[in-house]
Amino acid sequence: MKTIDLTSLQVITESDIADLPREAGTEVVLAERAIITPSAREALAARGIATRTPGSSGSTAGAYGAVAGAVSGVEPARLALFTSQEAQKIKEEICAVGRKLWMRQYVDGNGGNISYRVGPNEVICTPTLISKSDLKPEDMCLVDLEGRQLAGGRPRTSEILLHLEIYKEVPEAKSVVHCHPPHATAYAITGKVPPTCVIPEYEVFIGKVAISPYETPGSSTFARTVIPYVKTHNTVLLANHGIVCWGDTVTHAEWYVEVVDTYCWTLMLAAQLGTPLSHISETKAADLLAIKKQLGLPDPRHDNPECAVCDLPEKPGEIAIDQKSVVSERDALIQKITDEVMAALGKK
Ligand SMILES: [Zn+2]
Repeated sequence: MKTIDLTSLQVITESDIADLPREAGTEVVLAERAIITPSAREALAARGIATRTPGSSGSTAGAYGAVAGAVSGVEPARLALFTSQEAQKIKEEICAVGRKLWMRQYVDGNGGNISYRVGPNEVICTPTLISKSDLKPEDMCLVDLEGRQLAGGRPRTSEILLHLEIYKEVPEAKSVVHCHPPHATAYAITGKVPPTCVIPEYEVFIGKVAISPYETPGSSTFARTVIPYVKTHNTVLLANHGIVCWGDTVTHAEWYVEVVDTYCWTLMLAAQLGTPLSHISETKAADLLAIKKQLGLPDPRHDNPECAVCDLPEKPGEIAIDQKSVVSERDALIQKITDEVMAALGKK
């Protein structure tokens, strides 16, 4: 049996498992309180690799592991970054935003997570298994863009991979907030997206939201579900789960959470009045899109005449749009453009 010592790692990720030699009967020794991410756990099971802690025989670490001690051997430059004045301010902002999320009932139990890209390959994030109302600056973790924990006394959130995919895709994304606000999540569990062209603030700060398909939270497959949307949307509904927003600051990313949840809530209230919604006209909505562009906020409708300015439900009075119809409309458009390009090439 080949035994591999991984006790130097606080967090075991899928890539750590992928790096292991492919030999039958491999076992790994893990630090007493190491965390194994869900995707790493999947990879271990898929390869039949046994795990144990030093001094034990063949037991595995808990689902999330317990609270780990401070990561030893932090690179001096990274430690300096993590303990800098700028980092301290970010940590305090994350704590304040955590309390806002909890006060507004956007996080439940230990749910939700917040991060900020503090360096080109360094992200400060919340730890796992803590209520967002109880965060303290000293609870924060530092990870690299692959999710490896670099510093911090507690294990990082298991959802960091989702945040990291957004940072990798969108250079201007500085902060990511993931939570479970009830009204937006209600949309996410019905596979519907709210219509556009109803309330100006929503048009400017959010506009079209996307909805990504369901995958097991914490896995790298789940993290990758948002990739197709995050360049053109700052908010994605996560099917049967919650939402994720990104912004230029932690505070702004939290604002987007508030805007989208309040919008979904307002639509639900309006639906109870039993009267069809009135809509902002396409011309007026174009004014709002121009403001949005000036603010540097993403939207799939920018410079895209093929993308309808207003997504209106087919039945008057409906408050939601079936995402499948939006997708099939887009697929049909892509097909039409492809056909035209191919026809034009064929004429030459
Ligand atoms: Zn979640």
